[in-house]
Amino acid sequence: MNVIEVRNLTVSYNKKPAIKGINLNIEAGSVIGIIGPNGAGKSTLLKGILGLLPADTGDVKVFGKSIKEVSKGISYIPQREQFDWDFPVNVEEVVMMGRYAHLPMIGIPKGKDRDIVNRVLKKVEMEKYSKRQIRFLSGGQQQRIFLARALAQESDIYFLDEPFVGVDAKTEQAIFNLMKELKEENKTILVVHHDLGKVKEYFDKLILINQRLVAFGDAEDVFTSEIIHKTYGGRLTILQKSEQYY
Ligand code: ADP
Ligand code: MG
Repeated sequence: MNVIEVRNLTVSYNKKPAIKGINLNIEAGSVIGIIGPNGAGKSTLLKGILGLLPADTGDVKVFGKSIKEVSKGISYIPQREQFDWDFPVNVEEVVMMGRYAHLPMIGIPKGKDRDIVNRVLKKVEMEKYSKRQIRFLSGGQQQRIFLARALAQESDIYFLDEPFVGVDAKTEQAIFNLMKELKEENKTILVVHHDLGKVKEYFDKLILINQRLVAFGDAEDVFTSEIIHKTYGGRLTILQKSEQYY
């Protein structure tokens, strides 16, 4: 069964389409990279699938249902600049936000929720920082607590928008290892990524997008110079000397 089905999805800002007529069938248990140049509509695609932006046309089904019916099973880590870093909360509180969907109406965390928060903080090696205000964390540490929050949610599907931007090599490796672990648990992980290095190492499947879907398939099959050129068009300066990628 497909975990996510996207049919003819078009999303616009001020009537100008950012993504057009996107069709995707995504199965469980894979790490999928969303690749394309700046402004290609990668973040818009995630927000469109998540129902955070209204669709002009099209339809999204997650586990065969509309996204609103399954929000509990979905974690989303937005691109980092979209977060207010001066917001006065500490690490533990941010990670506990991942449990809110599981809490009863009054929203008081139980022992079990605290256990989960402690466990995921250990997993991302941030347990020593649980009381620290988030504005005093490095970029890599901030990304780790967002990951911890997503893990605390115990979702089936994870949407990560450029999780590797501004993080150190060790954090990048930690994020990659977690993606692999989630995949082993048959979870689905969609990752916006704009750097073409390590693409085949990181992702099983790729969505190549530039407003329209250029290609979707196994990374082995679609990460070819022809398809990459088609995706990046004239803007492909960084790729000229990049035979190592193919
Ligand atoms: P990507 O994530 O691939 O860099 P985006 O999905 O952020 O691209 O943006 C796709 C296009 O939509 C770009 O041309 C961008 O300028 C435009 N866009 C994105 N967000 C907004 C917004 N809030 N209002 C108006 N235009 C936007
Ligand atoms: Mg983006």
